[in-house]
Amino acid sequence: MKPYVYGIDIGGTSIKFGLFNRQLQLEKKWEIPTNSSNNGESIFGDIVDSIKMHTPDLSQIEGYGFGVPGPVLKNYVQMCVNLGWKNVDLQDRLRDELKNDHIVVGNDANVAALGEAFLGAAKGRKNVAMLTLGTGVGSGIVVDGRLLEGHNGSAGELGHLTIPQEQPIACNCGKKGCLETVASATGIRNIYHRLNEDFTGHSTLYDNDYVDSKAIFDAAKAGDKLAISVVDEAAYYIGYACHVLSVTTDPSVIVIGGGVSKAGEFLIEKVTNEFHRLVFQPTNDTVIVTAQLGNDAGIYGAAGLVKIRG
Ligand SMILES: [Zn+2]
Repeated sequence: MKPYVYGIDIGGTSIKFGLFNRQLQLEKKWEIPTNSSNNGESIFGDIVDSIKMHTPDLSQIEGYGFGVPGPVLKNYVQMCVNLGWKNVDLQDRLRDELKNDHIVVGNDANVAALGEAFLGAAKGRKNVAMLTLGTGVGSGIVVDGRLLEGHNGSAGELGHLTIPQEQPIACNCGKKGCLETVASATGIRNIYHRLNEDFTGHSTLYDNDYVDSKAIFDAAKAGDKLAISVVDEAAYYIGYACHVLSVTTDPSVIVIGGGVSKAGEFLIEKVTNEFHRLVFQPTNDTVIVTAQLGNDAGIYGAAGLVKIRG
């Protein structure tokens, strides 16, 4: 038995490395900047160099798990726009340099869900869904301990769930009215701008030069009417997404992560209320909680992927 496992989270701005023991306890972590020039070609060498610098004896490593920002099917990276990658076989690119065949890959949001299921907010649970509400919306689904990938590697792409609305906003994916346009940090600002057009009272948000989602949550917590109406609408959409997750995959825990989740219990309580208004009764014991691993969810989940695809 080799004593260590690597969990590596490749993002558009940085690559995070975590060296874990076999109990998935983090021994050390670090990160390097992502160089996506030249179609992300130097990323492979940068990863190998960094691993070799921190690991004098590669024969001690059981395997390497990766999270990447794009769809992945059977270990094969379909496309990562942020990295410049298209049709990348990471195992093929890294196995000789790392002298290891055990190289497994998953989508970053899926892998983060696995991290929370292994060691975070849903520790020890076998049926878990996670919504990551950041600049965009990512989601990952673990069913019976297995990560769902689907036919195209796009299982759990709830960020692009279409939400019926009167004034749908264009999404980066080319569609209109996706969950991402109303439930991400950007989406919450979108709701603010729309509701502000018809709002006639005074809002403390008018004192800010720039209104971001944190300012909206802070104002709502302090009782600002406009901010509360924005948060209530966002909570409805997030609760609706939780309902969709519930009736399709029946998780015992839905984890809410990403920057927006820093609003904490204030948001979770509203989302839970919306979820309970829609819930199919046999699944009403599903709990909604905030993520615990923060930016480390990806490295934990990537290391976990080595274990479940061992
Ligand atoms: Zn979309």
